[in-house]
Amino acid sequence: MVEVTHLTKCYGDIKAVDDISFTVESGEILGFLGPNGAGKSTTMNMITGYLSSTSGTVTIDGHEILEEPKLAKSKIGYLPEIPPLYIDMTVRKYLEFMFDLKKVRLPKDEHIKEVMKLVRIEQQSERVIKHLSKGYRQRVGFAQALLGNPPVIILDEPTVGLDPNQIIEIRNLIKSLGKKHTVIFSSHVLSEVSATCDRVIVISNGKIIADAKTSELSVVSSGKQKLSLIVEGTPSTVTDAISKIPAVIKVSKGQDMGENSAKYMVEYQTDTDIRREVFYAMARNNCAILEMQSGNETLEDAFLRITNADQTKNKKKVRGVN
Ligand code: ADP
Ligand code: MG
Repeated sequence: MVEVTHLTKCYGDIKAVDDISFTVESGEILGFLGPNGAGKSTTMNMITGYLSSTSGTVTIDGHEILEEPKLAKSKIGYLPEIPPLYIDMTVRKYLEFMFDLKKVRLPKDEHIKEVMKLVRIEQQSERVIKHLSKGYRQRVGFAQALLGNPPVIILDEPTVGLDPNQIIEIRNLIKSLGKKHTVIFSSHVLSEVSATCDRVIVISNGKIIADAKTSELSVVSSGKQKLSLIVEGTPSTVTDAISKIPAVIKVSKGQDMGENSAKYMVEYQTDTDIRREVFYAMARNNCAILEMQSGNETLEDAFLRITNADQTKNKKKVRGVN
């Protein structure tokens, strides 16, 4: 549905977006994740045709955005980082205005009513936008993006500045949109992406550094899982017994937790589950397990590690040049 090929954008010497390529299938919800300044907005502005690329192409449902802009743009609903609202208009007047501007060919009153219902702003329809809270304004921006039922919805940091309840509402809205639309939304908050998306692309310094199913990202990059234990017994007995389990990569003793117990961290191979073996190994040695917790790397950890590693790499490169 959306095909991005070798997309690059330079601002003078700065490469804001550096040769990125990806495809989004119909009905997919893609999270575009990266720290501030990573190049998310620049990429979205190029995908939606608001900004021309320095090189590379964007195709929406087979139509290249710069060659057939009208056709390609008619397939996209876009909520930019700063929603294009006319704050002196009422919600309804604004949506009618955008409906005409977009030349939507649907029954006007009915469609606007439907969209307002979807984002839950029917009650606010006669209110002037400047008197609305940030959360409601964002929903008006959302409604604007949905006018004409475009198959592709692109949202740039749609939850920034909203309170936790509003964030949950917007997330649910995104999820429900995913049933009928292809959705790409950006965020610098990992938990948000993992809660909402099927797939995540991590961008840092204008480059894609990870592209994975949300469910896979937590482990893809490390190749190991972790188990955290509190066990009663002689430390050498505990570590010896655990390290004999075939899938175990490393056992390390952490802090003492009491007279005869301590914390242990176990790293083991992915695609295995060593909890039962740990239980029996400890039982055979008369060591009581007081606590066992799988300490897998969270998406948050993975994100930090991947982006930090990327920055370190870049720093090294710069040093190398000097
Ligand atoms: P994000 O949306 O991920 O925070 P942006 O796409 O806004 O990132 O910005 C990416 C990089 O491009 C940043 O380093 C930013 O300073 C730079 N940049 C963005 N817009 C412009 C512009 N109009 N002129 C010069 N540099 C820009
Ligand atoms: Mg941005």
